Amino acid sequence: MAETETHLGEWDGDEFNGWRFIPYGVEEEEDVPHEQVKVWVARSQPRDKDTGAIAFDISFEYAQWKDHRVSILALMDLEDNSFPYEEVTEALNDWIEKAKRFPHTRRNCLCCWKRATKGKVLCQGCHTKFGEVIYAD
Ligand SMILES: [Zn+2]
Repeated sequence: MAETETHLGEWDGDEFNGWRFIPYGVEEEEDVPHEQVKVWVARSQPRDKDTGAIAFDISFEYAQWKDHRVSILALMDLEDNSFPYEEVTEALNDWIEKAKRFPHTRRNCLCCWKRATKGKVLCQGCHTKFGEVIYAD
């Protein structure tokens, strides 16, 4: 039995019926469609051809796993200063880390075609607009 998951529910059963894990709050969550999503992160991310912003190929289960190319600008939650997918956040942190480590490498801004500021992943203009969400933890 997974001890670490006991906060998510409880084990129920006996030696005759077998044990099963009953998650808490299942009834409330039943109305919410559980959407399966895959985010593809590549070494070289594609860019949106209009804005120049980095894009992610995302597949959704409800759409038969068809790939959708989604610009990073569309993924930003500016109210929450976050991204909806863990993979996107991880990729961002990775790029931020690399930019810090290799500040002299020429790189383009994640959100447009311009050059990024030294040691940063954004240009000056985009940093003003998106710095908070991009550099949020
Ligand atoms: Zn920019």
